[in-house]
Amino acid sequence: MDKPRDRVADTLLLDSSVTAVKGVTAARAKVLEKFHIRTVKDLLAHFPRRYIDLSHICTIADAQIGTTCTIAAEVHEVKLKRPRPRLPIVEVTLIDDTGVLVVSFFHMPWLARRLKPGMRLAVSGKIGFALGFKKLSNPYFEQLAEGDVEGRLLAVHPATEKLQAGHIRRLVFAALDQTRGMLDPVPAHLRARRHLISRGAAFDSIHRSHTTLEVAAARTRLVYDELLLLQLFLMRKGRERARLAGARAHTTDGASVRALTEALPFTLTDDQRGAVRDLFDQMRQDVAADHMVLGDVGSGKTIVAAFGVAAAKDSGGQAMVMAPTEILAEQHDATLGTLFDASGIRHALLTGSTLPPDRARILEAFAQGELDVLIGTHALIEDDVIPCDLTFAVIDEQQRFGVDQRARLLAKGRAPDALYMTATPIPRSLALTLFGSLSHSYIRQKPHATSKRETFAFDKSKRGVAYDAARAALARGEQVYVVCPLVGDPPATREDDGRVHEDDEPYHPDVQIETEDDLDRADAASATKEAKRLARTVFLDNEVGLLHGRMPAEEKRRAMEDFAAGRTQVLVTTTVVEVGVDVPKATVMIVEDADRFGLSQLHQLRGRVGRSDLDAQVYLISSSKLPPAVKRLEALVESDDGFKIAEYDLSLRREGDILGNKQAGTSSLKLVNIMTDADIIEWSHEDAGAILRADPDLSSPAHAALAREVRMTFSEQMQVSGG
Ligand code: ADP
Ligand code: MG
Repeated sequence: MDKPRDRVADTLLLDSSVTAVKGVTAARAKVLEKFHIRTVKDLLAHFPRRYIDLSHICTIADAQIGTTCTIAAEVHEVKLKRPRPRLPIVEVTLIDDTGVLVVSFFHMPWLARRLKPGMRLAVSGKIGFALGFKKLSNPYFEQLAEGDVEGRLLAVHPATEKLQAGHIRRLVFAALDQTRGMLDPVPAHLRARRHLISRGAAFDSIHRSHTTLEVAAARTRLVYDELLLLQLFLMRKGRERARLAGARAHTTDGASVRALTEALPFTLTDDQRGAVRDLFDQMRQDVAADHMVLGDVGSGKTIVAAFGVAAAKDSGGQAMVMAPTEILAEQHDATLGTLFDASGIRHALLTGSTLPPDRARILEAFAQGELDVLIGTHALIEDDVIPCDLTFAVIDEQQRFGVDQRARLLAKGRAPDALYMTATPIPRSLALTLFGSLSHSYIRQKPHATSKRETFAFDKSKRGVAYDAARAALARGEQVYVVCPLVGDPPATREDDGRVHEDDEPYHPDVQIETEDDLDRADAASATKEAKRLARTVFLDNEVGLLHGRMPAEEKRRAMEDFAAGRTQVLVTTTVVEVGVDVPKATVMIVEDADRFGLSQLHQLRGRVGRSDLDAQVYLISSSKLPPAVKRLEALVESDDGFKIAEYDLSLRREGDILGNKQAGTSSLKLVNIMTDADIIEWSHEDAGAILRADPDLSSPAHAALAREVRMTFSEQMQVSGG
């Protein structure tokens, strides 16, 4: 029998270097590092990407064409073919007692070296038929060893050529054996309440269980752990801000707020009013508040920020409004500026292209309290930007900023209230996961409910339809965006399936792309070319402008101004136009190679049109025939609702196998599926809240293990934010 374990030693081993695991040599540790595996616990958290169900193996003869099967068979022959220079195909002939199966692996030339006649493989995928043989294309596969007896689940871990799934499995098993006595950091009463198995059992089951039921129970427990730690971390950080001394209790019905209300050129929607009310509720309190406004593109979030700025001014404080691009900052300055002027709020714009003498003047005025609000880009977080008394900070499109950038902005005041705005509409479960400690308001109504926006998906061969619609819009005096193909990005459908394709070739056909900079350049080049082509052909009668990320800021501004003023009627652009840009007369958008963009990104893009009372049309052009790509575009055609799109987008991230484990959101979340784990997300949110209410510093002995876990898991983030 087992000798008694030293449970503390086993627990501490989790945080030791992975080299403490039997069989992990320095060389192997280096390969593991590629998977971000550094500690023993990291190795245990290297979860299988799928399982091969060895209890349901069928013979080649029994495998029905069109169904998904797992087959165990022997390699008979391996051939490397190159029908085209960039298309390596490894063709493997498998045989069992009942027949022959032809298996093709695309873009994995190294398999030709790895697979040898005589090897036994388990392959799993959808059975096809060609040239008289049953076949499988790019199936999941696994080499079967002696010990891989039938009648259980075989875990397949993400692997590389240098450290194959079989090796990794053995290392994981060794780690499980060495840490078998690990203590459970989650208090017993919570485990009982949520019916969770112990952590040790969960790690064991997820890697070597016999039934899918066991795997499911293990997964629930591990998902709970990931979420509980994240919630504890976020909530404690939130509390740190709330504990800061000197937060302003803002007045929210002062002269500027009233003047702003008067100056509004439109009536607020109910949701906008609700968001302002929620924000003011937070701002009135004398603690540093963090409030998030979530609203689809074009839902009118900016105005909510304006009210916060007015309240800051009325309370004798100052505000800063930070946006991720110069275009957006300038636009805020223009639109908010008018309202601020009418409300007696003194404002200025500060970006990377502000000229040095102007900059010096603005900084001086801001430091002296002669400006009430500074609107700008990352330029706002420079060290020499020193407010006189910052009490309110706005971070627009907050997802585009890093944690440290947000923290640096907030650090410019003693304890400013913060307003985060995001146009990535996310369901409540995700909001809780990412922003567990923030209060939040949703803006779901659109201000322009009377106009409609339609989206169409067309094959490249039918793009003429889109051009016709564009010309019709131009004839009505409206404007058109043409968004150019992304050059360097592989199509989003070629999703990473967890394998590391070592010798895989880069996707792009005619540009050598090695760095992000090359990629940028290639996108710019393609936009430039397309603008020239369109100006000479389709839009011969119109002025065609060009906007891409590599243009100098000054040129970008001019291109944007020309388009906003209608001097150019067509704007050919890359994704720089994605965020927040507001040109009400733009009504048609054509997106080339739409299948290469992410779903949410496309939704953001189309948010550039349909921002007024004019009807709008979006044309998604693609030449992809791949069903997933087509399905994704169809989702956009069917729904114009950003929340639905976001939910759909998230649901796609599920792997099609029994227990999907695609990475989601935060890097500490490996197993969580935002859509299907909504229940566990609510549990963890509730439990973390209860734990911290009873023990705010996690200082009680019952929580010592949890506190340690939080520290270990988020050590990097804690350093950045100085927490
Ligand atoms: P987003 O939420 O994408 O940041 P904006 O704040 O830029 O949206 O608003 C989009 C457009 O709608 C702007 O032109 C803005 O002036 C306009 N707008 C905002 N609220 C209203 C409203 N209540 N009625 C009419 N137009 C509005
Ligand atoms: Mg906006």
